[in-house]
Amino acid sequence: MNTTEDEQTAPAELKAPPFLVIVVPCYNEQEVLPQSSAVLCNKVESLIAAHQIADKSCIMFVDDGSKDRTWSIITELHHQNAAIFHGVKLAHNKGHQNALLAGMTHAYDVGADAIVSLDADLQDDPNAIDTMIEDYRQGAEIVYGVRDNRDSDTAFKRGTAVMFYKVMTALGTETIPNHADYRLMSRKALTALLQYREENLFLRGIVPSLGFPSDKAYYKRGVRQAGESKYPLHKMVSFAVEGITSFSTKPLQIITGLGIGSIIIGIGMLIYTIISVHQGNAVAGWGSVMCSLWFLGGVILLALAVIGEYIAKIYTEVKHRPRFIIETTI
Ligand code: UDP
Ligand code: MG
Repeated sequence: MNTTEDEQTAPAELKAPPFLVIVVPCYNEQEVLPQSSAVLCNKVESLIAAHQIADKSCIMFVDDGSKDRTWSIITELHHQNAAIFHGVKLAHNKGHQNALLAGMTHAYDVGADAIVSLDADLQDDPNAIDTMIEDYRQGAEIVYGVRDNRDSDTAFKRGTAVMFYKVMTALGTETIPNHADYRLMSRKALTALLQYREENLFLRGIVPSLGFPSDKAYYKRGVRQAGESKYPLHKMVSFAVEGITSFSTKPLQIITGLGIGSIIIGIGMLIYTIISVHQGNAVAGWGSVMCSLWFLGGVILLALAVIGEYIAKIYTEVKHRPRFIIETTI
């Protein structure tokens, strides 16, 4: 929480140490799991020892249909320390966002007070969890992990990320800059999130749109500790397309604009042709071809945009998003 805010207002009562579940999606992570499980286990144990989280807090690995030894490693970990290591195995590879959702749903079902979602490769510094818990206990329902440094990412990844967030903002979707899927969510926020039943889930857009009191925990993003990135270019592109199309129908408005522009050009050409005919310097056939080309092109674009608007309406309806989310009642 903001310290100056805290100093000005009387310190509110701290929330009790939460039953925390750390949700870790894993897809073919056999190289990094031994290391990340050890680091996360230390983290959970030290937070329990410091009475920051409840004794039954745990780590929930979600095996997203891995083809390597990931699940057997998770099983071994569970046998070594059943209190800390839990696992969920998805039958198919459904992608990072769905794996996260599966883990969060399961954490909700077992009664978690708060979850932290975190990648398996330790790129996101687990020490930021301490700050997240502090913020949560002071009242934040969502705490976003924000990278204050992306030096470890390739220039390509950094460049595309900056572009992506710019496009999202331009299209009117609120996203948290430099925040990926490393975040704490309280049970209340999770309850609201789970009301979103849509098939294509874009957590980075939906979570900020929930509107609950939130905070940020800054950390330095490191390099992947072992194994390779599970986000090749084609997955990045489809993730970006998903993000844009699941939140915005602005592309349709762009088509509408293009259609109207094209019709105006068509009309302009008609006027130009009439003037040329009057002045006697018209080129035979040019006017009729150009006017109809631009005018008809414009009409077709507009018609497409109108159809698109109806499809967009259907799209919004079928998502069955909650129409409101209650933050509190008195
Ligand atoms: N992941 C997943 N399913 C997938 C792809 C990735 O669960 O289909 C997980 C992966 O195991 C990791 C996290 O999502 O824990 C982020 O992936 P990665 O670190 O490879 O992405 P990058 O950091 O390179 O963007
Ligand atoms: Mg990574």
